[in-house]
Amino acid sequence: MKVKHLAIVGGGVAGISAYISAIRSGAFNRITVFDACGVGKGSGLSAFSDRMLCNTPVELNSIDADNVMDFYHYCVRQGYACTPQDYVPRSLFVEYLVRTFEQHRRQFDAQCGRTEVVNLSVNAINHQTREIITSSGQRYPYDNCLLCLGPTRPSAYDVDQSEVENAKNAVVFGTKLSAIDLSIYLCSKGVHTTMVSPSGELPSVRTRLYERRDGPRFSERVALRQLREAKSLEYRKLNAYSKLTRDIHESGTNTWQDMIGDMLQRNMHKPTPLIRRTLMLAPRIIKRYLSAFTYGNAVLIQQFIDQGLLTILKGNKYDYLSPKERTLHLDGGDALLPQLTMNDHVVQITYEPSSKVNVDVETLSRYGIYASGALNRDVDLVVNYIRYITQNNKKNISLMMKERRAQYEDLCC
Ligand SMILES: Cc1cc2nc3c(=O)[nH]c(=O)nc-3n(C[C@H](O)[C@H](O)[C@H](O)COP(=O)(O)OP(=O)(O)OC[C@H]3O[C@@H](n4cnc5c(N)ncnc54)[C@H](O)[C@@H]3O)c2cc1C
Repeated sequence: MKVKHLAIVGGGVAGISAYISAIRSGAFNRITVFDACGVGKGSGLSAFSDRMLCNTPVELNSIDADNVMDFYHYCVRQGYACTPQDYVPRSLFVEYLVRTFEQHRRQFDAQCGRTEVVNLSVNAINHQTREIITSSGQRYPYDNCLLCLGPTRPSAYDVDQSEVENAKNAVVFGTKLSAIDLSIYLCSKGVHTTMVSPSGELPSVRTRLYERRDGPRFSERVALRQLREAKSLEYRKLNAYSKLTRDIHESGTNTWQDMIGDMLQRNMHKPTPLIRRTLMLAPRIIKRYLSAFTYGNAVLIQQFIDQGLLTILKGNKYDYLSPKERTLHLDGGDALLPQLTMNDHVVQITYEPSSKVNVDVETLSRYGIYASGALNRDVDLVVNYIRYITQNNKKNISLMMKERRAQYEDLCC
């Protein structure tokens, strides 16, 4: 039997969920995962403090496309007391990634499959010779290739723990999820922290974030009307702290945030003209509701502001870069993103600022290279990333199988 070899570049959420789907498809008998950080550990979701919670509840974090409660069952098996709607530490999720991979690996390898993990970063892919080229120049042949490089350059937080112990002040660039995580960590270590971003806005606060399976579907027009009412001019004029206080106060009762989530979720594959127009006209308003942060973290942020440990400013990063004694400067969101450039038959992987990044997933797939996870920029419109990623992986694996059947039929003709 001819060996069919799948190369997965990146062993984070998308990489591991693709690994599970690939095994289940029965289409491959050899799978190689490339990741310099090791499988599961380099994910954007990894954390160095137990205070860092997942931004999505347990019921939305399954990496098994066919079992949406897989993560919940894992938590229960580990004796972690939670409900499907709870937000748990990211360290628990990363442990789940690593263990789930190992469990599937054992089963696959016992059934005559072969899994290899290459602890190296990938620099390029030659789609003509079908070779993966690692940072140390080694070449690995493949039949199919799936890129799961994630949202940012690996290890988004380049935080030196001893520097944190020593620091008095910190400036964190960004006010979104990564910046919030970092700031909670710094403040909990007693470091006076200032978050700076061009908007000076925190994301919205949600006590719940779920996929609507039953129940009413809100029409886009109703949701947009609600958005206009809820986000009145008066609200928009509030500063970040006042908005946070109001969001915390309303988070248990309002339904309009769910409506926006629901509307975006349903339209993520094919945004309707109305959604496109709204995104163009009010990108900041809509984006504030795409990546909401959890109620627990919102309350912590509010407490740190009240204690005088945290300040949120609207401003330009370059105005805050000058070095000061015992002051840390950390990037909490404006990290470098993976960029893919085509050169002859080689796709080069580099890391660039977001303004320069333009990954054309469709062109890549014409060369038999598929992209999944946060690299696939469609995800920008998605409320529930992980569910989308797992389903997208299933689609990518079946596209690979279709492509292979087409090649086989060509050969036969
Ligand atoms: C701080 C933060 C918090 C988040 N919280 C949530 C959350 O709670 N819920 C949620 O649904 N989403 C969350 N996200 C979004 C999250 O990134 C995705 O849901 C998920 O991690 C995407 O999976 P991925 O596989 O695309 O990326 P990742 O899980 O980040 O995996 C990418 C992997 O690729 C590896 N890699 C990168 N470049 C190379 C290379 N050249 N060669 C080899 N390997 C490489 C990295 O080491 C990493 O292991 C968060 C993102 C961030 C940054």
